[in-house]
Amino acid sequence: MSRIDASSPVLQVRDLSIEFPTQQRHVTVKAVNGVSFDVYAGETFGVIGESGSGKTTLGRALVSLIPPTRGELLQGGVQPSSLSKKALREHRRDFQILFQDPNAALNPRMRIVDSVMEPLEVAGHRDQQANRAAALQAMARVGLPTEFAERYPHQLSGGQKQRVIIARALTLKPRLIVCDEVVAALDVSIRGEVLNLFADLQREFGLTYVFITHDLSVVSHISDRIAVMYLGSLMELGPSQALSEAPLHPYTQALLSAEPIPIPRSMRDSQRIHLQGEVPSPMNPPSGCPFRTRCPKAIEACAQSRPVLTEHVPGHWVACHLAGH
Ligand code: SF4
Repeated sequence: MSRIDASSPVLQVRDLSIEFPTQQRHVTVKAVNGVSFDVYAGETFGVIGESGSGKTTLGRALVSLIPPTRGELLQGGVQPSSLSKKALREHRRDFQILFQDPNAALNPRMRIVDSVMEPLEVAGHRDQQANRAAALQAMARVGLPTEFAERYPHQLSGGQKQRVIIARALTLKPRLIVCDEVVAALDVSIRGEVLNLFADLQREFGLTYVFITHDLSVVSHISDRIAVMYLGSLMELGPSQALSEAPLHPYTQALLSAEPIPIPRSMRDSQRIHLQGEVPSPMNPPSGCPFRTRCPKAIEACAQSRPVLTEHVPGHWVACHLAGH
């Protein structure tokens, strides 16, 4: 039986936009600009983009840390803004987020077991003995031996601290975990171990992940589907293998062609695409296609109208005027 249940979206995102005010009157930062997608139960949904693509803002919005400016977000069919304060607190346990820097989430003066128990206490579980047992169980599940319980964060390596953070999230038995660059700071040798741990936990607990990263080689190995973001918008969305082997959007093609690891034969050597310049400011995005100022294939029409994300092959969506030509 498939791990993924496409009839049961854990997240439904519809035309979601997030803007932030700036010091200048009437000027906003358009961090996320009208994105729509579903994340299905049991899947790993990769989100990839350069710095400034809006992927981190989107990740925070998916777990209700940032409210949408426009559009709709349903978590397990529920609109979080419709819940009472108490109901929202309970609902939020199902939707967790992990960040790149475990130090930011760990109190240096708290023993590891206390840090892992903390989310249960915050959630109102008062039985200390039961909380400690649950924390030790979660630690064991992520490969942390019992003797680590009495240690402090400074006595652990980066990979071990990241495991503590995962154990903390697991104690609440979430449905979905947003992982924002969670392996970016780890040595390459440890990175594989932690990614394998995520995969094992998914099989065991039926978890759903949104994996946010700038590194295509990380998401392509573990994701079922990948969304490519640029300047707050979705450029391409499709099955991981199809998107990695036959990308349809010039931006995805450029990201793939910059990869040092095996790339599609058709894009090697002379067909390598070198992205010029920086991502434009989200305070002043280009007219038409957001990618047009760096796109090697841009034509006049690209400045006139914004391409709509369109399904070119079943399940494979692209926002480009030239896709399919
Ligand atoms: Fe490039 Fe035009 Fe396609 Fe945008 S719409 S990606 S500028 S070809």
